Amino acid sequence: MAHDHKQQTTSRPLRVAVIGSGPSGLYAAEALIKQDQISVSVDIFDRLPVPYGLVRYGVAPDHHKIKSVINVFEKAFLDPRVRFFGHVEFGQDLTNADFHRLYDAVIYAAGASSDRSLGIAGEDLPGSISATEFVAWYNGHPDAATRDMRLDARGVAVVGVGNVAVDVTRVLAKTTDELGETDIADHALTVLAHSGVTDIHVLGRRGPVQAKFTTKELSELGELANADIIVKPEEIALDPASEAALAGQRVAQRNLEVLRAFAAKPLAGKPRRIHLRFLVSPVEVLGTEHVDGLVIERNRLNERQVAVGTGEYETLDVQMVLRSVGYKGVPLPDVPFDARANVVPNAAGRVTQSADGAVVPGEYVTGWIKRGPSGLIGTNKADSVETVRALLEDAPGLPRAADGDPEAVDALLRSRGIHFVTIAGWAALDRYEMALGEAQGRPRVKIVHVAEMLERVMGAS
Ligand code: NAP
Repeated sequence: MAHDHKQQTTSRPLRVAVIGSGPSGLYAAEALIKQDQISVSVDIFDRLPVPYGLVRYGVAPDHHKIKSVINVFEKAFLDPRVRFFGHVEFGQDLTNADFHRLYDAVIYAAGASSDRSLGIAGEDLPGSISATEFVAWYNGHPDAATRDMRLDARGVAVVGVGNVAVDVTRVLAKTTDELGETDIADHALTVLAHSGVTDIHVLGRRGPVQAKFTTKELSELGELANADIIVKPEEIALDPASEAALAGQRVAQRNLEVLRAFAAKPLAGKPRRIHLRFLVSPVEVLGTEHVDGLVIERNRLNERQVAVGTGEYETLDVQMVLRSVGYKGVPLPDVPFDARANVVPNAAGRVTQSADGAVVPGEYVTGWIKRGPSGLIGTNKADSVETVRALLEDAPGLPRAADGDPEAVDALLRSRGIHFVTIAGWAALDRYEMALGEAQGRPRVKIVHVAEMLERVMGAS
């Protein structure tokens, strides 16, 4: 018997669990099944009943083409070696110890679900919210579905000049007709249809050369049916440090061309205005019970392109502040975490005990929780390939799981009363959402409450 057991454990496929079914997790699954070095079986977990993470809940609803990456991920799910376990929360429904008992290797691909704060007075006032929350709300993320979002503000300040800032600005500025043909959450469409917003102030603390948005996204702001864009020529004039930095930066050069064209364009008198500002920092959110203004300070750049306050202030007439200054990773239970960088410490994807500590055998990490919240969806492909390469190198020496039987996972979840969602369950929900969408001439209508999702997958999972 003991001999049989050994035979079985050494010849069975390597059992890998991927925690998170967003881009980084699914690129990792793809890399695992594409290689032919070793035989693998891959179980992908998500705390939500549905897969795709930020592709479903981060990508702006009017950027439907970006979501076509789902075709690549669907291929991974069609592979018989891959299974999906939706609605299973790491650390709660299954602990790190459970994963070690059931799998030979675990890849953390949990992304960065929180947001960075500004650290200024008044930022916690009602009416000041993170872009992360706003994006989750309009994309129908179950965590944000019941949020009471008001859009009775006339003026909104969007802090930050990355692509998320551009996304939220576009969604705030678009007409109901423009948004109505997307898969934006129904609750958001209703609120946006009654929005009182007329002026959106997008605030970059540094200059145009240091802005993080990409040119295509920036250009779109100039093509909106309902909004003029206003850029002050003096705020896009370059200081010597920016001039020098511009030389090698193609994206910044193209951005600057677009910004100069915006600055030169006469206003068309549209009902909304986007004020794209540079070299200004928020210093205080005003208000007692609700946001009632934002004080900003003019900056200059020093020779290292760092913003330095000039002591010159201005107050913006805003009743809402959207902080779009970056996502932030959160610790996973019983997994090492670097609280300064907000990532799982690692060496080329191998989890380490601390930033320069020893490798934790059998644990790997990829995506935003590995490198921080930067890059486009495709950036995760190379990142996950690097992690999977490390895993494959280690595979021959990895201690095998005590209970590597694939059925053990299902049995354990069932014994704990966890209603998990399989890929067949997701496929049923996917078809249902798309049929609802088709009836309205939209790509899909999202189901936003977990209980309703589970109801829809019942019988299929
Ligand atoms: P991001 O690109 O890192 O931009 C964050 C912005 O916040 C920067 O302009 C940054 O300015 C600013 N900021 C940070 N701290 C600040 C502070 N205390 N006060 C004022 N401003 C501050 O982050 P993101 O926009 O969240 O995007 C995350 C990633 O997703 C990016 O790689 C982005 O390209 C990607 N994404 C892509 C798309 C798309 O392709 N359409 C859409 C959405 C997101 P500094 O540079 O001065 O720090």
